[in-house]
Amino acid sequence: MTTTHPTAASTIEGTGVVPGLAYAPAAWTRPRPAVAMDAPPLEEDQREGEASRFDAATRVVAERLTERAERATGPAKEVLEATAALARDRGWLRAATRMIKGGTPAPQAAAAATGQFVETFEKLGGLMAERATDLRDIRDRVVAELDGLPEPGIPTPESPVVLLAEDLAPADTAELDPKFVVALVTSLGGPTSHTAIISRQLGIPCVVAATGLDAVEEGEMVLVDGAAGSLRRGVPEEEARAAVEADRARREVTRAWQGPGATKDGRPVKLMANVQDGAAARAASAGPVEGVGLFRTELCFLTADHEPSVATQARIYRGVLEAFPGKRVVVRTLDAGSDKPLRFANLEHEENPALGVRGIRVAARDEGLLTHQLDAVVQAAEGRDGEAPWVMAPMVATVPEAAHFAALCRERRLVPGIMVEVPSVALLARHFLEHVDFLSIGTNDLSQYAMAADRLSPHLADLTDPWQPAVLSLVAMTAAAGKEAGKPVGVCGEAAASPDLACVLVGLGITSLSMAATAVPAVGARLAEVSFEACEEAGRLALQAPDSRQARQAAAGALG
Ligand code: PEP
Ligand code: MG
Repeated sequence: MTTTHPTAASTIEGTGVVPGLAYAPAAWTRPRPAVAMDAPPLEEDQREGEASRFDAATRVVAERLTERAERATGPAKEVLEATAALARDRGWLRAATRMIKGGTPAPQAAAAATGQFVETFEKLGGLMAERATDLRDIRDRVVAELDGLPEPGIPTPESPVVLLAEDLAPADTAELDPKFVVALVTSLGGPTSHTAIISRQLGIPCVVAATGLDAVEEGEMVLVDGAAGSLRRGVPEEEARAAVEADRARREVTRAWQGPGATKDGRPVKLMANVQDGAAARAASAGPVEGVGLFRTELCFLTADHEPSVATQARIYRGVLEAFPGKRVVVRTLDAGSDKPLRFANLEHEENPALGVRGIRVAARDEGLLTHQLDAVVQAAEGRDGEAPWVMAPMVATVPEAAHFAALCRERRLVPGIMVEVPSVALLARHFLEHVDFLSIGTNDLSQYAMAADRLSPHLADLTDPWQPAVLSLVAMTAAAGKEAGKPVGVCGEAAASPDLACVLVGLGITSLSMAATAVPAVGARLAEVSFEACEEAGRLALQAPDSRQARQAAAGALG
C-alpha cells in the first residue's frame, strides 16, 4: 500500500467505544458489488459460455477461500473452510446454472439463486440462518469476480492498518488479526454494534458513528483515539508516534494495576463486575474486582419457554454468589422486555417495547415472577457468609413501585435497591431513597430515556452518549440525594467502563462502578493517577459543557 501524509490537519469525530491510540495508514473495506436485477436476457448462443464463466468464477472464489483457510488457524480457519464449502455447494450452483441456461446473466443468476437459498435458511433459523450471511458473502465474491472487481470485504493487509468501513458484518471479522488491524473506525454502528463487540474482544481501539469518514483516502496516515472518539488526519508523524508510545506506556500501567479501586489521594471507589452467569462471575473473580455490581439475571433465561422453577433459578444464582464468597453481589431482578424479551414474561407484541411492559412493570402483571425470583435468591444464599445479597429492580419509575419492591425484599431479609434508568427516579431520588438502601444508575437506559434516542439505533450514538451533560446532570442529582441520605449510589451502565468518564462519575459523587470485568484495570489505573479534587473539577466542567464532545474535552483537561 502507498502511504500518504496530508498536510492539512483535520479531525473526524465519532463515538469512542474501545480506548487506545493507533497510528497507521487507512485501509477501506472493499465495497460489495451491486447487481441490477433488470438486466436483459441472454441470447441462446451466449448461455453456454455464460455458464462456463460462472463455473470458473465460483471455482476461483472457492480456491481463494481454501488457500486462506490453509494459512489460518482456530475459529478463522473453520469459518473460511465452511465458506469455501458453500461456494462449492451443488444445490446453489445447480440453481444458478439452471437460470443461466434459461437466459439469466451470471451475476443476476447468482443473486437470484442466493435469494432463494437465503429465504430457506432463514426459515430454518438458528445455525442455518447464520449461513445466509455466508452465502451472501459468496454471492458478492462471485459477482465481483465476474465483473473483474477486487474481492469485496476486509482486505488482508501485510502491515498494520487502521480499518475503515461503513459497518462490519459478523462474517467480515473472522480473519481480523490485531497484529495487522490496529484500530477500527466505522461510519455507522453504535456502542453495542457488532463492530464494537469485536474490537472490545480483540482489544483494538475503535470509533463508531464517525461523521465524514468517506473523506479519508486509502493509504492516508491517520491517528485514531478510541477514548476521545476521533480520527485525526494530517498529524505530524513525530507527534503521532509519541502519542501512541505514551498510550502504550499507559497500557503497561493498566496491566500492572492490582486494586482495590481508589483515587490517587486514597478515596475508595468500589470497582465491581457486570456478569450474566456463574461462568462469567468465576472469570471475573480471577481479576482485581471487589464483587458483582450487576448480575443480569434475565440473560440466563433468554431461550426459556416457561418460567424456570425456584430451584432451577436458585442453582443458577448460587453459581454467581459462590464465585464471590463474602463479597458484595447485586442481583438484578428480571429486566425482561425491549432488547431482552423473555417468552414467559413479556407481551407477545408491543408497538414500542422500550417504553412498554419491561423490567419491574412485568411484575405488576404477574407478581409471582418477582416473588419466585426473590425466593430463589434467598435459597441460593443459604449458608453464605457475609452480608445478605443486594437485590435491585430495573425500570422503576414511581416511588410506590420502589416501596412495594423494597417491602418484598425486606420480608426476605434481602437488601433492596433500584436502578436509576428512568429520569423520574433521578428527579425524585430523595423520595425513592426513603424506601430503598441503595441506587444503581443504568446509564445505558438513562441516556436512552433522557435523550429520547433508541440505544440500539446506529444513527443516534451521539445522543445516547453518556457524556451528554443532561445525563451527567441526572447522575449528579442522584448522587447528591444519596449523599444526603447516607446511602450508596453506584453506576452499572457502560459509562462506568470508560476511564475518564469513570473519574467524572466519581467526581459527581458516585461511590461504586460496575462494568465488564475486562474494563476494570483501565478504570482502576486511571482513578489511581488522579486526585478526588481533579475528579470533582472534571465533573463540574463536564456538567457545564454544551454537548458531549465538549464535556469530554473539558474533563480530559481537568484530569490531565
Ligand atoms: C443500563 O441500562 O445501563 C443497564 C445497566 O441495564 P441494561 O444495559 O441491562 O439495560
Ligand atoms: Mg437498563
